[in-house]
Amino acid sequence: MFRVGIPVHVHKDATLRVKIHDACGLTCTFCHNEGTPVAVDNRHRVPGEFVSTGRSGRASIYAITDGAAFLPASMPDNDDFRNAIIALRDALEFDELHLTGGEPTLHPGVARLTAIATEAGFRVGMTSNGERGARVIPDCAAAGLDRVNFSIFGTTAAELAEVQHSRYRNPLLAQRKLESLARSIAACHVNGVDAGANLVVPDYTRAPRVHRLLDEHSPLLTVRLLNSLDRGQTSIEAISRILADRGAVAESLHITAGASGARTAYRLPDGRRIYFKQIRPVRLPGTCSGCRFNNGTDCEEGFYGVRLYYDRTGTFQVGVCIQRMDLCLPLSDFLSSPLRHEILTLRNTEYDRLFARRAG
Ligand code: SF4
Repeated sequence: MFRVGIPVHVHKDATLRVKIHDACGLTCTFCHNEGTPVAVDNRHRVPGEFVSTGRSGRASIYAITDGAAFLPASMPDNDDFRNAIIALRDALEFDELHLTGGEPTLHPGVARLTAIATEAGFRVGMTSNGERGARVIPDCAAAGLDRVNFSIFGTTAAELAEVQHSRYRNPLLAQRKLESLARSIAACHVNGVDAGANLVVPDYTRAPRVHRLLDEHSPLLTVRLLNSLDRGQTSIEAISRILADRGAVAESLHITAGASGARTAYRLPDGRRIYFKQIRPVRLPGTCSGCRFNNGTDCEEGFYGVRLYYDRTGTFQVGVCIQRMDLCLPLSDFLSSPLRHEILTLRNTEYDRLFARRAG
C-alpha cells in the first residue's frame, strides 16, 4: 500500500454513513443496497424469508446471507434524526456525514436532512446515481451540502442498460437516466458543490469508459477509479495501465485509519487530478475474528465504517458491515456496547501504527 517516493497522509475515519431512503429508479444487478433488503419487495416477508430480487427488479445482493432483521424506512427529517446523529457524533468523534440510499435524492426531505446535519457540525456528502439531483441539489447546496459522489454504472445508454434488471434493459430509459446524471453534475457545478464520479474498473475493457468520462466532463468533475475486489490483480493492473495511458503521475497516498478506505492521487498532464481508490483489508479485531467471511475472498469490503439506518418500526439501527447485518444494534444498545469501544480502539491503534510507519 505504501509507495516509495510520494507523500503519505493518514487520516482517522470520521465519517458516518446514513441510509436515508430505500427507493431507487435504477435496477442495477450488483447493488448491495447498503445491506438492507429492498423494502418494497419484502414488506410482507419476515426476517429469514427476505429475497435478493423481487418484483421491482431491484437487487440487494447480500439480503439472503447477511442476516438482516429489519426493513429500511425513510429517515425522518426531525429532532429524532438530529438527536441520533449527535449521539453518534459524540460517541465516535464523527465530523462527516454521508447520505446514501437507495437513491438519496428521492427522499422528499433530503435538503432538510442536510440542514440538520450541517447544523450539528457535520460536513455533508452524498452518493447518488444522479437521477433527481437537478431538482434537489440547489436546496441541498443552500443547506450546506459539500460534495456528491456520482456512481457511474455506464457512460453510454447501452452500457447502463446492460447492467439493469432484464425487464428494464432499455437503452431509451438508460439514455434518460444519463441525461439526468449530466444535469445533476451541472447542478453541482452551478451551486458550488464538489462533484466526483466513481467508476469501478474490473479489467482493461473498461478503459474506453474512463477515457470517455475524462474527455466529456470538465476538470471540475473529480474522477475516482475503484478496483473490483472480485477481479483481484486483473483490476488493479487495468487501472495502472489506464493511468499510464493518460500519463498520470502519482502525487500522494491518503489512508483512512480505522476503516478500509485508501486512495492515491494522480496528476494528469493537463493538471487534472484523478484518484485510484482501493479497499484495504481492515477488520474489527474482536467482531471480525469469528466471522465466517473473514478470509481473503469472502469479506468484500472489510470494515468500511459505521452506518445508520431507520427501520420500519421507528428504531434507529447502527451497522458495521453490509455482509453481516445481524451485527446491527438499536442505537441505544450500540452506544453502551463494547462495539463502540472496539471501533475507537481500532481507529486510534491503526492511526498510531500508520503514522509511525509514514514517519519512518
Ligand atoms: S468486515 Fe464484515 S464480512 Fe468482513 S470479517 Fe468483518 S464482519 Fe465479516
